[in-house]
Formats: sequence, structure tokens, C-alpha cells
Amino acid sequence: MKTAIVVGSGAAGATVGRALQGKFDVTVLEAGKPFRPFPYSIEWLQKFRKTGLFFDEREIQWLFPTMQIRKTAEKMVLVNGIGTGGTTTIATGNALFVDRDFKKLGIDLGAEFDEIISEIPVSTAHQKHWRKITRQLFEACEELNLNPQPMPKMGNYENCKHCGRCVFGCPLGVKWDSRQFLQDAVNQGTKLETGSRVDQIVLENGIAKGVVARTRFRSKFFPADLIVLAAGGFGTPVILQNSGIECESQLFVDPVLCVATEWRDAVQHREVEMPFFAQQDHFMLSPYFDYLSFFFNKNWRQPARHILSLMIKLADSNRGGISGKKIDKTLTEADKAHLQQGVERCREIFGKLGIRKETLFLGTLNAGHPGGMFPLTENEAQTFHHSALPENLYLADATLIPQSLGNPPTLTIIAIAKRVSRLIKDVG
Ligand SMILES: Cc1cc2nc3c(=O)[nH]c(=O)nc-3n(C[C@H](O)[C@H](O)[C@H](O)COP(=O)(O)OP(=O)(O)OC[C@H]3O[C@@H](n4cnc5c(N)ncnc54)[C@H](O)[C@@H]3O)c2cc1C
Ligand code: SF4
Repeated sequence: MKTAIVVGSGAAGATVGRALQGKFDVTVLEAGKPFRPFPYSIEWLQKFRKTGLFFDEREIQWLFPTMQIRKTAEKMVLVNGIGTGGTTTIATGNALFVDRDFKKLGIDLGAEFDEIISEIPVSTAHQKHWRKITRQLFEACEELNLNPQPMPKMGNYENCKHCGRCVFGCPLGVKWDSRQFLQDAVNQGTKLETGSRVDQIVLENGIAKGVVARTRFRSKFFPADLIVLAAGGFGTPVILQNSGIECESQLFVDPVLCVATEWRDAVQHREVEMPFFAQQDHFMLSPYFDYLSFFFNKNWRQPARHILSLMIKLADSNRGGISGKKIDKTLTEADKAHLQQGVERCREIFGKLGIRKETLFLGTLNAGHPGGMFPLTENEAQTFHHSALPENLYLADATLIPQSLGNPPTLTIIAIAKRVSRLIKDVG
């Protein structure tokens, strides 16, 4: 049987590994370790907020190595997951099927979305347990004609205990993450090598011969007949560049900014994150307790239980890039204007609850949906394979997304990974 290397075990990598195993003898190379949820209590940790020990978001990695944090020159905090399951383990489980920019290219992901619905439970069962303040926010959005919708979530939310720890890894296994697909792949015979960070692809006469990865401080060559990169929107471009393949400076990240206020006993941090959303042009709004801001932003002084916060998730311009450890990402004037519109909307929503705008404070700009540096165009609508790549090298992750979705992208990424897998199998 032919051999395939899949790089990464997040939304895309786990999907491809599972789909190709059997047709290929698959090895998944994953840079991180097996995922473990964050073990510490938030109540215990918040006692240290006043000590000045929490001064840089990158400290999180010491306590929780899964959460990789980087910062741009403008101090935007960039987050992604390292370890089995990739970023899906620290995601909030939102399940939106978004393919509008693909349709413009003549790509219909409908068949893949149908398949996903039969494989991943999607539910709004959390709605029964919303706190009073969440219902009030929802009603305020309705009164403002913002068309709020309960957020569909991936997983079995009938069993959700509303602990609010989704971004630290669900301790109860309620939230779906891509380790489930990864386990399916392993059960079918896929080899999983954790602690194996791929540096580059070895190319010979225009054909990919394998990859070089660092495993336990040694460099090791993994030969393969087929290579699929699924190292995420930050990881895949670096591997391509290390291999002499240029990417486009079209990085998007979906920046997030929270607008918050003090609200006695809101207890928002003890509720499922992002229980509903209101889609607007250029951004979406959603209730969100932002732990990054809570621990590291000096404006967030109140105890967790008394903070009420709304997130603005922006669809940013495709402008920027990553090269080695350097990330070049700044917001354009249009991005800043759209964020400001989001802040105004949040003021109106809070205003409906009688909250004065002088009491509002902002969170730290952060982002966790990177992609776009090898975007699909009409030319690849049928093949999902760029002519600049060797014929046996495919990409399968958010790197292929043509422009920022400004929405949770996991289901779109899984759909892309499914399509890429099917096309590979068709080619043989
Ligand atoms: C806090 C947060 C909350 C989110 N919530 C949601 C949500 O509710 N719904 C939603 O749809 N999306 C959400 N997202 C986004 C979503 O999780 C990601 O967009 C998605 O997981 C990306 O899938 P991927 O396969 O492209 O990359 P990832 O899931 O990031 O997987 C990439 C994998 O590759 C590995 N890797 C990287 N470099 C290398 C290398 N050189 N060699 C080997 N392995 C490598 C990584 O360790 C990782 O396992 C959230 C993101 C964040 C940060
Ligand atoms: S709120 Fe629900 S889904 Fe989120 S971590 Fe807790 S139990 Fe899991």
C-alpha cells in the first residue's frame, strides 16, 4: 500500500487521516503531545491576579502548553492549539456551516456539510440552561433587530454542566473535538507520532519524497508517497516556506475584541461560551467571558462572577503573513472602522439593559482563526491543488480559505479536508 504523511492532527489533519487510512498507510505527525484539559481552578488562579504575576499572555503556555500564544507588533494576541486535536480542543464548539466565499469560486461544499451532519452531533440544547442575564442580552439584541440566533454547538450538549471551561478543554468530553476523528483513524491502523514537529518537505525533481521532522531533539526523515499539510493557518505556511515554496501575504486571523461591564452576579464565566450570536456585516457579536483579558488586562479588575462581556469577532482584511517566528499582521483602516461599529453595537445592547457607556471597558485584541496564505482561486475549484505544488503534495487546512470568514471556521475546514481527501482518493 502507498504511504501518506499527514502533518497535524487538528480539524483538518484528523479528518484527512481518517479519510485516507485504508487507501494509504497513513502516519500523522503531530508537533504537540496528547491533549490534557487545563487542570487548575479559575477561582484559585484569580487570587494571584493582584500579585502582578500575570503580566504577559505568553505565560499561559507555562501552565497550559496546549495554548500557543504569540503577539504581533501591535500587541494583538494570537492563539492556537498545539497537541492532539489541535485548536479544536480549546475551541468553544461553535458549529456554523459557512461557504459563501467558496460559492463565489464555483465551489459547493454542500455534500461535505451533509456528511459532517451525519458524523458530528450539532445541538442547541444548552439554551435551556441560559442564565437570566444571557436571556436579557438575547432579548436586547432582538429589540435592536440584530437577529440573534442560539449558537449550534458540536457535541452532546444534553450532558453539558455549564462549567464555562470550554477554552481549557472540556473536562467531561461533552464538546466534540477532532481527537474523535483521530481515534477513528488510529483504530483503522493510522500511526500517530506525537512530539514530531515537521520542519520541511524534501523535494526531488519536483516530487515530494518525504518530510524532515524534529522528534525528541533529533531530526528524522519520514519518507512518503503522498504528503498532506494540515498544520493550521500559522503552521502550514512555515513548512512551505522552509521548503522553498512561497506563500501569499494574505493572512487573516478573525480578530476578537470584547466590550465588558460590571454586572453583579452575572456568573457568565460559569456558562457555555458564546451561547448565541448576532451576525452583522463584517463582524458577529456574541456573549463571551474572555479569560485572556480577565487574567492579563489591567482594565478587567472585577472578580470573574461580576463581569459581563460581549465579543466582536471581525472578518479582517487578508493582509499579513508569517515567516519563521515572525508574524506580520496589522489591522487596516477598514478593519478598525468595522471594529468601532461593533463597539457601538455593544453599547446599544448594553444600553437596553440600562448600562451606561461610561461603565464599559474593552478587552485585549486577540485572534484564533488564522488562514488564507495559500488561498483557493477559481483555478483550483475542481482540483483543490495548486499548480505551484508538487503533484503529490496537498494542503487541507485553513491555509486554503480564500478570505476571512469572520465566523467559526471548523466545519468549513473539515469540509475542505474531506474534499481534498476525496480528490486524492480519486486520483489514486
Ligand atoms: C480560543 C479559540 C476558540 C475557538 N472556537 C471555535 C469554535 O467555537 N468553533 C469553530 O469553528 N472554530 C473555533 N476556533 C477555531 C478552530 O479551532 C480552528 O480554526 C481550527 O481548529 C483550525 O483547524 P486546522 O486543522 O486548520 O488547525 P489546528 O486545529 O490548529 O491544527 C493544526 C495542528 O497542526 C499541528 N502542527 C502545527 N505545526 C506543526 C508542524 N510543523 N509539525 C507537526 N504538527 C504541527 C498543531 O499542533 C495542531 O495540532 C477557535 C479557536 C480558538 C483559538
Ligand atoms: S461548559 Fe459544557 S461544553 Fe463547555 S467545558 Fe463545561 S461541560 Fe464542557
